[in-house]
Amino acid sequence: MTTWIIAAETGVGNLVDQAREFGGTVTAVTVGNLPIAGVDSIIDIDLAAGAPVEAAAPSVAGAVTAEPGDVVLAANRPSERVLAGAVAAKLGAPVLTSVKSLAVGHAQVAKAGGIGLEDVAFEGPIVAILDGGAQPAGEVPEAVTFGAKDYVVTVSAIEQAEVEAVNLGTAQRVVAAGRGFSSKEDLQLAADLAEAIDGEVACSRPLSEGLGWMQRDQYVGVSGQVIAPELYFAIGISGQVHHTAGILESGTIVAINNDETATMFEDSDYGIVGDLYEIIPQIIEALE
Ligand SMILES: Cc1cc2nc3c(=O)[nH]c(=O)nc-3n(C[C@H](O)[C@H](O)[C@H](O)COP(=O)(O)OP(=O)(O)OC[C@H]3O[C@@H](n4cnc5c(N)ncnc54)[C@H](O)[C@@H]3O)c2cc1C
Repeated sequence: MTTWIIAAETGVGNLVDQAREFGGTVTAVTVGNLPIAGVDSIIDIDLAAGAPVEAAAPSVAGAVTAEPGDVVLAANRPSERVLAGAVAAKLGAPVLTSVKSLAVGHAQVAKAGGIGLEDVAFEGPIVAILDGGAQPAGEVPEAVTFGAKDYVVTVSAIEQAEVEAVNLGTAQRVVAAGRGFSSKEDLQLAADLAEAIDGEVACSRPLSEGLGWMQRDQYVGVSGQVIAPELYFAIGISGQVHHTAGILESGTIVAINNDETATMFEDSDYGIVGDLYEIIPQIIEALE
């Protein structure tokens, strides 16, 4: 069995660990000469200067010659998802996302944002998208260059979207605001608390989809981001399952709500019953 790892960045430690658990050989297919440690071999695809990673999709698909029983792993990042899609299309292989566990011939994938789990059995090659993890440590084998034709792509212009950069996926501390906040301006309180704990600000869906107070990539839940920070504040959030499905893997969950019967308290490690407008400043003051 061969496990193939598609890498457009070096953060693939989780994929290398998974591949080693399978046994067999591990081959990384890299775009742009990346030093991937812990694998048996590297096939590198040279990227033309200025070309986006996605231009290498045909080459990556050509380099991965997976056979039945093989598994192709890619990190859950935009470019690598594109490359994984090209590989899956060439192989005629299914793509598994939201993978919770993976073994030879068997996977468990999260459904409906993690509310349920589905067992999947497979025989042919599959492509699985997992969290990439950190850069793996160890020896880096010498790469062999794969000489296929990439798409001919030139970047003619780059327009920066006018959005704040949020990275909930990797944030270890998250302050999430819900409809308990009365106005957009009041969200500054959540931002202040996030700053005090060196975290990111998130929200429940109504704040971004309905009210438009926050960006779409900031809401958490079954149809938003599924995150697992070490600390999650749910403030003015009632705790409906659509929301909590996105946070249940968090380390410590703290709820602040003025309704002592709010279901958010059931999923929380710590609960503070009270008015968020009084409690947040007190927490910030205590932290300072
Ligand atoms: C198909 C589908 C998918 C969905 N996907 C998502 C999703 O991905 N993510 C998501 O979040 N939602 C999702 N929803 C919506 C979800 O069902 C809830 O409606 C939503 O999460 C509620 O948001 P909320 O808790 O902020 O608001 P509310 O339910 O209105 O709760 C507000 C809370 O604030 C408290 N509060 C009010 N004032 C204060 C105060 N001064 N101090 C302290 N507490 C106060 C109230 O007691 C209340 O508990 C989805 C719904 C559907 C139908």
